[in-house]
Amino acid sequence: MKTTDHQTAQKIAAKRAGRLATTPDRFKGHFAAAWSANCAPRRAVKAFCLECNGFDPDAIAGCTAYACPLWNFRPYQGSEARNG
Ligand code: SF4
Repeated sequence: MKTTDHQTAQKIAAKRAGRLATTPDRFKGHFAAAWSANCAPRRAVKAFCLECNGFDPDAIAGCTAYACPLWNFRPYQGSEARNG
């Protein structure tokens, strides 16, 4: 059975709503931005790292997954605020 564009859009919306339901409020904006068409890639990396490391900026800064393709690009390595 071929999936229609409408069905795909509904699936995407449902998946994203589920993701936001488990995302702390202060980080939800990164996900919403990452899902927009004109998002800077860095914001998508930030959202991915947040999800990967339990929404813990300190854990991301100290991430030891050196083989991860995103490691060099992970957020919170410098003086970046850790509350968002
Ligand atoms: S760099 Fe670390 S926190 Fe970011 S996606 Fe890779 S393993 Fe996860």
